[in-house]
Amino acid sequence: MNQSHFFIGIDDTDAPDGMCTTWLGTILARMLQKSGMQLLCARLVRLNPTIPYKTRGNAAISLEMIGNAEYAFSLACDLVARNAVLSCQNTNPGIVVSIKKPPSDFYWKAVSGICTIEEAIHVINKHCLYHKKYKLGRGLIGATAAICSEFPDKTWEFLAYRNQDRLMQRREIEHESFYLSEKLTFPHTWDTWDEDEGHPVCVPHSYDPVLYGIRGDTPFSVTRAVSFIISEPPGMFQVWETNQGTDAHLVQCMGEGPEEGISYLIQGKVLSNPVTGKGGHVSFILLTGKLEILCMAFEPTKKFRDAVRSLKAGDKILVMGSYLKKTLNLEKFYLFNADPVPLPHAPLCPSCKKRMTSAGLRKGYKCRICGQREREPDMAYERRTIHPGWYEVPPGARRHLARPLARGMAPPDATCLPINQRSDRLS
Ligand code: ATP
Repeated sequence: MNQSHFFIGIDDTDAPDGMCTTWLGTILARMLQKSGMQLLCARLVRLNPTIPYKTRGNAAISLEMIGNAEYAFSLACDLVARNAVLSCQNTNPGIVVSIKKPPSDFYWKAVSGICTIEEAIHVINKHCLYHKKYKLGRGLIGATAAICSEFPDKTWEFLAYRNQDRLMQRREIEHESFYLSEKLTFPHTWDTWDEDEGHPVCVPHSYDPVLYGIRGDTPFSVTRAVSFIISEPPGMFQVWETNQGTDAHLVQCMGEGPEEGISYLIQGKVLSNPVTGKGGHVSFILLTGKLEILCMAFEPTKKFRDAVRSLKAGDKILVMGSYLKKTLNLEKFYLFNADPVPLPHAPLCPSCKKRMTSAGLRKGYKCRICGQREREPDMAYERRTIHPGWYEVPPGARRHLARPLARGMAPPDATCLPINQRSDRLS
């Protein structure tokens, strides 16, 4: 058989009530390995988190292999045809095979922007060997982006999959073992356990084939964390190389201002003190240049809202989040300064020891008893309940792509550039 180095990308095979593209990718990798091919790298590639067509976390997969590309493609087509939930209107699978990795531009557009199927087909026609689409074939976007992907920063996820005959039963997991796993391996793993809510966050609740997923900084860290977990026996597992937790989706806000469906990092000043609205959502206006941007911390971000409430007008911050319905949905922010808030008030009259009152607009203060005047107010300062530094949403409300503080976050430099534009690209 003709042996070559190749990449195969797959996307859009699942539906809300079942299946998962990573499960299908794992089955494909196992079958190709059994046929004598070599798996060099299995990538779980998260794409723009705001895409409305997504089923859950907008993930696509790519397998980098050595073997027979034509056979791998025909096997992938067969697996997708038999397992994808084609009856679901929103499931439109795509499969792409390429011998050489195409340029990464299409990946960066798919992770941070909005792509069309035609754009994916343009890349495929120029660089790829085989492709197949089912129904609308929207999955060609994710499948192409996955094989174009470059990870200047990367993390790993150990995905354990359920035995097929247990899919309709409740997942059997020992909660405390997830707590222990995170305690013993943090910060090399993260987002296993939600400390505030007191439950695992890495176990799905739906009928999809994933039993749990452990995220961490190396394949060793995630595998070690799994050794502490007690659960029903997984049917199979795969350690995926991923762009999760890398902030790859963030771009700088340029020109006219934010666009719908794009995730930004924006530096600016808090224009007015945050307010808590209906449903417990907390909002404030950010002033950046001449633009005023509504920023929101929604109710599911729980304690993060307390940090947002502690901001004051005038604070200089860097915010990160997706712009949807003319609102920046906060994922994380950096507070540069937390200066005490000046609280001017009328001074005491030095003779009468009584508080003076305003003498009128810009006229200072006047003692109503002896008529003595004072130009300047007395100054008190409100102590801040927040310190300069990073603040993030809890694990349960975190975007897959958002870099958790557990990974370490340096204070932003003067440029505040997103990852794909930084010269020192994070390792
Ligand atoms: P799955 O497990 O099937 O991958 P999911 O939650 O990851 O589930 P999909 O079902 O793949 O979501 O749906 C996402 C769809 O959006 C796919 O067809 C994918 O090709 C497409 N898509 C992904 N990123 C973009 C983008 N930036 N612009 C336009 N379409 C995109």
